[in-house]
Amino acid sequence: MRDQCRGALIGLAIGDALGAAVEFKPPGSFEPVTGYRNGGPHRLAAGEWTDDTSMALALADSLARVGWDLNDQTDRYLQWWTQGKYSVNQRCFDIGGTTQTALTQFLATGDARTSGDRSEQASGNGSIMRLAPVPIRFGHLYPDRLADFAELAEESSLPTHASEQCLSACRYLATVVAALIRGEERDVVLSPDWKSLKQLQEIKPLHPLIEEIAQGSFREKQVPDIRGSGWVVKSLEAALWAFHDSSSFEEAVLKAVNLGDDADTTGAVCGQLAGACWGESHIPESLRSNLARMDLLEQALGGIVNHEI
Ligand code: MG
Ligand code: MG
Repeated sequence: MRDQCRGALIGLAIGDALGAAVEFKPPGSFEPVTGYRNGGPHRLAAGEWTDDTSMALALADSLARVGWDLNDQTDRYLQWWTQGKYSVNQRCFDIGGTTQTALTQFLATGDARTSGDRSEQASGNGSIMRLAPVPIRFGHLYPDRLADFAELAEESSLPTHASEQCLSACRYLATVVAALIRGEERDVVLSPDWKSLKQLQEIKPLHPLIEEIAQGSFREKQVPDIRGSGWVVKSLEAALWAFHDSSSFEEAVLKAVNLGDDADTTGAVCGQLAGACWGESHIPESLRSNLARMDLLEQALGGIVNHEI
């Protein structure tokens, strides 16, 4: 399970770093990504990662240091935004609009529970992209205390992304990742008949658009209906599309980032799933050893892995 936990966070960062070079490019408009490359909108070096990983590191640090405290989580997102802490190059170079508005609100009120925009128009993928630390640190609550576990996943979204779509997406994705970490089969977990999906629904119905994904929308669609956009619904669907029938971590993550558009984030979401499924040991060595600032990832993993597994 340690291998799957490590895989979920390292996978997130690898997907982010692979996609960073083609972020915002329309699908089909670039030479397909086969490994790390320089460039992209933030002019990063090969193997460097973006806000997705920075926010995941901030969240992991909070869980390790204080347990569950939404204000502390948000305070660390602020440290990233204002001081470049948790960043690959000590600068915050790519904060999303919804996140920035929410952190500004948090600065004014000090209340992370109400800082995120609840409107449906504010349904970006900024909270699913950073989610892995929750199933890594609190996956022991799954499956016996699924209601408590799903509640934490949902709460982790509140500080920046409080719409029903985002909350539901976090409940579903965290549960899938927790199950994969604990060795449940991919095909079972992604099936509409999955026992834990039924339980999730009984606890609180998922938003209909997230429910549609959980029912397998990603199996029937192809590009261009599959889009790696910044909308949480399309982003989650695209990550599952890339993951569900791939035969390896690398195949899944490359498929995700080659959708272009919000490529780093589709890659980060897919990387959490694929890393949890196959584990760190099945990630190609070249992707692991050329990932930037592995020391920051190791530090984060040291604080959240092996707690009560
Ligand atoms: Mg990013
Ligand atoms: Mg992105």
